[in-house]
Amino acid sequence: MNIEITTLADTEVSCANCEACCCRLEVMIITDTGVPDNYIKTDRWGGQTMARLDDGWCAALDRNTMRCTIYEKRPLICREFEMGETECIAERAN
Ligand code: SF4
Ligand code: SF4
Repeated sequence: MNIEITTLADTEVSCANCEACCCRLEVMIITDTGVPDNYIKTDRWGGQTMARLDDGWCAALDRNTMRCTIYEKRPLICREFEMGETECIAERAN
């Protein structure tokens, strides 16, 4: 019985057991939500994305808590990326 409960908990889709894998994706900034400039990378054509550090994760991610440090100002794409949706499941599988 305990084994079944443990197995269920381990496979449950939750940001708490994911290590923020979606925060390693390229995040385009398409609306102004107030992301601080130091987290924005601008390409030669003026396109803006969230900057990522050498470890691959978004620069705005707290590496200790694996939580977004600019949650209230996070880009639209981050707001629309929902836990448990198809893209989330795909990223977890990767
Ligand atoms: S939304 Fe999905 S992929 Fe992103 S941290 Fe949460 S569980 Fe992981
Ligand atoms: S802005 Fe926040 S939610 Fe969006 S990728 Fe960066 S850390 Fe993740």
